[in-house]
Amino acid sequence: MEDFADQVAKLCLEKYNKLGKKGKPSETEWTVLSGIVLKKNDSLSLVALATGTKCLGEIDLVNTELYEEGCRLNDSHAEVLARRAFLRYLYEQIDFLLSDRKSDVFTLDDTKKIKIRDGISFHFFTSQTPCGDCSIFLKENFCDDDVPPIKIRKCDSNTEELVKLSSDKRNKQIVKDIYRTGAKCVKSGEYQDPQLPGINYHVVGPLRTKPGRGNPTLSLSCSDKIAKWNILGLQGSLLSILIPSIKMESITIGGNSPFSLEAMERGLFTRFNENLNKLNIVQSKFSFKQQKSPDRKHPCPSSIIWCAVRNRDTEIAVEGRKQGATKKKKGSNLLVTRRALFELFLRTCDKYQNFDSNIRHPKKLTYLDCKKWSKDYQRLWNTLKSGSFRAWPSKPIRLQTFVL
Ligand SMILES: [Zn+2]
Repeated sequence: MEDFADQVAKLCLEKYNKLGKKGKPSETEWTVLSGIVLKKNDSLSLVALATGTKCLGEIDLVNTELYEEGCRLNDSHAEVLARRAFLRYLYEQIDFLLSDRKSDVFTLDDTKKIKIRDGISFHFFTSQTPCGDCSIFLKENFCDDDVPPIKIRKCDSNTEELVKLSSDKRNKQIVKDIYRTGAKCVKSGEYQDPQLPGINYHVVGPLRTKPGRGNPTLSLSCSDKIAKWNILGLQGSLLSILIPSIKMESITIGGNSPFSLEAMERGLFTRFNENLNKLNIVQSKFSFKQQKSPDRKHPCPSSIIWCAVRNRDTEIAVEGRKQGATKKKKGSNLLVTRRALFELFLRTCDKYQNFDSNIRHPKKLTYLDCKKWSKDYQRLWNTLKSGSFRAWPSKPIRLQTFVL
């Protein structure tokens, strides 16, 4: 498994190195790199890659003008952008299938339903531990008796149990402290961080929102989002109408960065009551040179978004918009926004006639209406939102009711 993780990391790092300078951090800036790798029998190929550290606050979104609805990215963390780039890749793979070209991912069954090819799987890479719950663990290697157990609040907060935080085995300093995350517990949730000195700074378990530029954000931490993808699949709600759920089989974390397998497992499954798909989680020996370090103190404001498609495979984003885009310039939107992906979905529906006949799209159909068609996906998500994920805040309706 370790060799496999190194191969996954290497594919992502090599592709990053081949990309142009645009959107990359300066010498004093750091960023996060995430990617998704397709394994087909024994060969690996990179299908999506992104960098990013930023997230828009609620106030930025309230000020978003009407015509920008669905056109701006709220969350530009690398993990989230890599998944969005992956969606573009999946749409193109469906398009290949429907145009009688060969798709690496999909095939049609006898009833003309889209299914996933045998022998393929998807693997996630991120250069550092995802923000949020996965990032909270002890800084040093205590001997077991030294550490008082702390309480873990299961996300379904009726249950609570005592656990010992695990430690980062590489760190030998004798300071009793934990790695912290800037992600704050969801406001409406029952638990908040005690913010006491040392190891009692955080509570572990609750859902968290991402740190934004001073403003609180509406976006959940990457630990929470990856946990959600692990249950509902990487394809998201709209694509679930057309294709089966796409699971991740492993997560590789880049080398030379704080890592705890126990905290990763807690953040992605043990804090939830649901029976979760256990992923293989491994740290690779290869590390990302542009990660946070004493020389790289500032988060890089721009993002690179790449996927394995024929046209416009690379985009650069700043503040949730395409770099250099102005409000007046038409057609200067990113291809991974909610609006662009919704357009792609409707175009694909037009081409693919073999789905639920309810799904003919009249004009003025909203993005939200369309999401409701993904009945199985919504049913499962609603079940989760009445259990472990109940503190997950909903996006304001206004951001979802745009039409094309
Ligand atoms: Zn994150």
